[in-house]
Amino acid sequence: MTMRLLEYTAPPPYGVKITRNGYVNFETRTGFLENGCAAYQWVPDDETGQIPIRYLYDVHRRIEDYLNREDFREAVLEFVELYGCWFSADVTSKKYNLHNVDEWRSEWEHVQRVVEVLDMYVQHPYLTSGHTSNEEIERKLNQFTNITIESGRIAIRPMSIGGSVWALIASDYFDGVTYTPCPNPKCPREIPSTSPTTGRRVKYCSQSCKNAVHYLAGKRKKEKKNDMPSLAEMAKAFKEFNEQEKNN
Ligand SMILES: [Zn+2]
Repeated sequence: MTMRLLEYTAPPPYGVKITRNGYVNFETRTGFLENGCAAYQWVPDDETGQIPIRYLYDVHRRIEDYLNREDFREAVLEFVELYGCWFSADVTSKKYNLHNVDEWRSEWEHVQRVVEVLDMYVQHPYLTSGHTSNEEIERKLNQFTNITIESGRIAIRPMSIGGSVWALIASDYFDGVTYTPCPNPKCPREIPSTSPTTGRRVKYCSQSCKNAVHYLAGKRKKEKKNDMPSLAEMAKAFKEFNEQEKNN
């Protein structure tokens, strides 16, 4: 691990909308400009007092899904509600400029191109990395992150979710991080070979996926007499688990 990615924790702005001219704006920003009061989307959990945790390690690899959505504007709105503004964590700043959906699209297309190339190297390691350059990644890190030295190691602090995405790309590129599907067969997320923030192994994308896998493993143990569970049994177990989750 040559670099450390600092966790991106900024809350997404509240009330995102796309203006008639195609600009992505936020009630967090308009409210702040009008009355100096900025509200964000996250509120701490009633019981624990903690803010929600998002799983961020595979966001760069999910950009393709957002990009290919039939309704691109809808994809941008959904992305903002979950992760925030691509360009800045602070949409109330005086220096902040509104960005239009075409800029979003071109940022995402850039990410998608680079992720595709990185995937190709993983599958064909004999290729040289001529298609993605250090400079290309460095330029994006300079645009969206702060790079510092912490405990003698390079530390990347994302200034936006875009910065977090490019930092993940950098850790794939420079540290050779690879991905496997989350062990919950119903989950579409991916797990990095090592966490770019802690350097430790990551096992699940979320507590609920961990619970699902443990539930299935327990169920399988009980049914061990019947050897391996059939696909139909697995499907039944999932159904039961989902129903149980629903009832909770
Ligand atoms: Zn998962």
